[in-house]
Amino acid sequence: MIRYYDHTDLTRRNSFGIRATAHRLAEFTAEEELREIFAELRRSGSSWRALGGGNNIIFRDDFPGTLIRCAARGIELLSQDETCARVRADAGVEWDDLVDWCCRRGLWGVENLSLIPGTVGAAPVQNIGAYGAEAGEVIESVRFLSADTGEAAVLRGEECRFGYRDSIFKHELAGAGFITSVVFRLALAPRPRLRYGAMQQEVERLGEATLHNIRRAVVSIRRAKLPDPAVTGNAGSFFKNPVVPLSAAERIAERYPDMPRYAAPEPGTVKLAAGWLIDRAGLRGASFGRVGVHSRQALVLVNLGGATGRDVLECAEQVRTRVRETFGVDIEPEVNIF
Ligand SMILES: Cc1cc2nc3c(=O)[nH]c(=O)nc-3n(C[C@H](O)[C@H](O)[C@H](O)COP(=O)(O)OP(=O)(O)OC[C@H]3O[C@@H](n4cnc5c(N)ncnc54)[C@H](O)[C@@H]3O)c2cc1C
Repeated sequence: MIRYYDHTDLTRRNSFGIRATAHRLAEFTAEEELREIFAELRRSGSSWRALGGGNNIIFRDDFPGTLIRCAARGIELLSQDETCARVRADAGVEWDDLVDWCCRRGLWGVENLSLIPGTVGAAPVQNIGAYGAEAGEVIESVRFLSADTGEAAVLRGEECRFGYRDSIFKHELAGAGFITSVVFRLALAPRPRLRYGAMQQEVERLGEATLHNIRRAVVSIRRAKLPDPAVTGNAGSFFKNPVVPLSAAERIAERYPDMPRYAAPEPGTVKLAAGWLIDRAGLRGASFGRVGVHSRQALVLVNLGGATGRDVLECAEQVRTRVRETFGVDIEPEVNIF
């Protein structure tokens, strides 16, 4: 059944806790209902956007159109052989519930992505990633229902063009439809990925590199490092790590020899750590009105109480300007601005 909520308060529907309303929120369970919602939107010409858990969205103002949300929360094992299992999850499933489901069944591939807040439907959009793993590595296909035609297409993983916090859903298919479910291909043989020093240490402290211990290690590191949105409003990493020409990185490294640098896929480029740049620009713990830069993790902007979307964007602009002035590097928001 489709549920419509008019003039909905969004304060608890975005992790930054921004006070805003949506003209309408439409919640569906079956694809047929989503088709009906899109048909109605085409008739009325009203604007719309997909909403998951609101963990990566800043509402600039009240949202004037319809937000669409999936209430379906099924997870099913499609097939399994000696090496891998194929698992289908509805868009409305909480991402960490899926990770838990997989870990309990001995399926490897998503354990490093434990505790990332949000829904399965949003995971392919920015190709969520953490601790040396990305969702795109284990996504076999994504089911996408077009807003224009109401038809569903299945995109194979390669067709999703996954990149660093990027996919086709942020480009050609942005605003073109809704991801209704995702199929994952997970491994049965152990595949621990412990490239991150802190993680390796934590897993060693817990014992063997089992799925259970890796999940526990990630959860405990994340809890220690990141502010809990239920306590302090935030949207996780606010900025993407910038990819710059090697020559630019070398120029900065002359002044800051300890600057961290990571490999980037494009030859002649390197990835810098946006959090480090913000920290070294002197902004860790700084506040700009009702929004601040987190004191432990400079990549995270936090709601100091009663922030509006415009307050957040103003703070983000100040941070960008200071980083540009200090290092000559432009950092772009990772969050979606509605
Ligand atoms: C404390 C914290 C820590 C975080 N840590 C990480 C991290 O380690 N790694 C990481 O990658 N991200 C991280 N994030 C960001 C966030 O968890 C992810 O972006 C997550 O995928 C957002 O899911 P959501 O359901 O809340 O999506 P939303 O915020 O609701 O939506 C995000 C975008 O996806 C679109 N969207 C949502 N659902 C659908 C759908 N079904 N079909 C089409 N488009 C859709 C929306 O329109 C929007 O553009 C963190 C956020 C927080 C608050």
